Amino acid sequence: MTNQVVTTERAAQSRVETPAAEAPGRLIEIPAGVTVAELSGRMGVDAIETIKQLMRAGFMLSMNDEVDFETAAMIAQSFGLRVRAPRREERGPGSLVVSNEGEEKSRLISRTPVVTILGHVDHGKTTLLDQIRKTNVTAGEAGGITQHIGAYQVQRNGERITFLDTPGHEAFTAMRARGAQVTDIAVLVVAADDGIMPQTIEAIDHVRAASVPIVVAINKVDSPRADPERVKRQLAENDLLIEEWGGEVVAVPVSALTGDGVDDLLDNISIVAEVEELKANPSRSARGVIVEAQIDKSRGPIATLLIQTGTLRVGDLLVAGEVYGRVRAMRNDRGMTVDEAGPSVPVEVMGLNGLPQAGDIAEAASSGRAARAAAEEQKRRREDKRRSGITLAEVHSMIESGEAAALDLIVKTDVQGSIDAVRNALQALNTEKTRVNIIHAQTGSITESDVLLAVASKAVIVGFNVQPETGAQALSAQEDVEVRTYDIIYHLADDVRKALTGLLAPETRDVVEGIATVRAVFGVGGKRKAAGFYVNQGRLSRAGTIHVIRGGKTLFEGAASSLRHFRDDVREVATGLEGGLVLDGFSDFQEGDALESHRVEEVE
Ligand code: GDP
Repeated sequence: MTNQVVTTERAAQSRVETPAAEAPGRLIEIPAGVTVAELSGRMGVDAIETIKQLMRAGFMLSMNDEVDFETAAMIAQSFGLRVRAPRREERGPGSLVVSNEGEEKSRLISRTPVVTILGHVDHGKTTLLDQIRKTNVTAGEAGGITQHIGAYQVQRNGERITFLDTPGHEAFTAMRARGAQVTDIAVLVVAADDGIMPQTIEAIDHVRAASVPIVVAINKVDSPRADPERVKRQLAENDLLIEEWGGEVVAVPVSALTGDGVDDLLDNISIVAEVEELKANPSRSARGVIVEAQIDKSRGPIATLLIQTGTLRVGDLLVAGEVYGRVRAMRNDRGMTVDEAGPSVPVEVMGLNGLPQAGDIAEAASSGRAARAAAEEQKRRREDKRRSGITLAEVHSMIESGEAAALDLIVKTDVQGSIDAVRNALQALNTEKTRVNIIHAQTGSITESDVLLAVASKAVIVGFNVQPETGAQALSAQEDVEVRTYDIIYHLADDVRKALTGLLAPETRDVVEGIATVRAVFGVGGKRKAAGFYVNQGRLSRAGTIHVIRGGKTLFEGAASSLRHFRDDVREVATGLEGGLVLDGFSDFQEGDALESHRVEEVE
């Protein structure tokens, strides 16, 4: 779990390597995917004690088994330790953030943080954005009124902050799904009179998947029904332990309506930005991300570009996704004409030959020919059926080739209890080499937002007793995101296990065509036994492979040598009917055993 929390100076100072016993509450760092032995070492706790504690939590693991971050954190916390997730740079490749690799260090300068505001609907995201804009536009700057261009900058005590003006995690994740990540810090708005709601949790997961630090704004503290303490508790329940309680997450009480606490929030954003050491090279050619774009009747296509690195100047050639052009004019967020724009600055750009899409990467080009070629190449790439997602079948080869060490999953279930059951079943699959990483788990049907998160994170979506919404189905097909739904946890876990070990045949999938319960066991000569069964769902067929399942474990898989309905040999027995079968090589039936008929089906 990429549980990104904000590390402040204070927290950093408390990372002293002393045994747990001497310093309760010591902060330890747990890498993503750690063995029980290694975890014990980091905690300064005997491995046997760790194993016992894991057993109490329902995990039967040995020294060399791997535990995922969430479980490891839970165990460490039960020993009174505080936990820190791996740092962003330790999280390996796949970052969508512009890298400064290869840049001369002397050319790098600090840049302004780019902030996105997320949270549940009606918790005050828009009001907060308006309040920040209203009170922090530098007086004296021409106009003094910000234009809506999709992003704006504020300045306080000489420090600037850039805000993306499209709140919500859909926009945030849609950009990531297109390959761009512009956000350096996420502000999570939680209304104090409402507390953490489903979209708050979704936002937390989306931000964590992006490894972006979170600052929490506890909003609406002016409301008579405000209960900030409850929000703090709920944050802790969601692994966001605030500083006040010994954690590392900054939480600031605010009222977006009255403006109370907003300055404090901005100060804290600046502090977090300082810790992040955001840098860029203003003297290279520009690269940025399109935030929004529209056609203006008189001026043609106008795109808001948030520069990430380098400087863009009027007259530069620019490629943005599939379109390009020479920058004719630029305007900043106050509607003023500017000649150049550096890192973290949002500008409206005129001169493109078409409309780019939000999330498109924009880059300066050296010549008209290079610009056209780059735009055409991008178009071609998109027209070739875009393969943005991954499938379970591809997971093993990615792991083999070292591209991934973990399978990222989004889990949707019918009820809360199933989340824990699925989580436990999947955690049991973790090995030294491979790991199942649940980046988002929630009840409810599979939504477009889930699909976008899957695209952005290269994750596979598994549904347990839920189906995709129509929009999500269309989007997943378009983006090639694999969505698998199950009604038996064992099958879900089994497919994931097969994917991890490369046993999942790429073109086929195992389908359960029916489930039956053993109601009687009788002898059929020699030591062989037959099972009398009742079909609860679907059908049991002779063509299928019969699985005998007891207590969630499969005892046997094999073909039926005889399948009967009353005295007749039949090909199949359907729902609501009784039958009897004999299996080749298995006779140890017990009443109550589940029988499943599996069929291998081609995946189109
Ligand atoms: P969004 O859906 O998260 O963008 O929420 P809005 O900014 O649209 O706010 C939803 C409602 O909450 C509006 O009626 C706001 O006036 C109200 N609201 C926002 N912030 C505050 C606040 O700090 N205090 C109070 N009392 N109401 C607020």
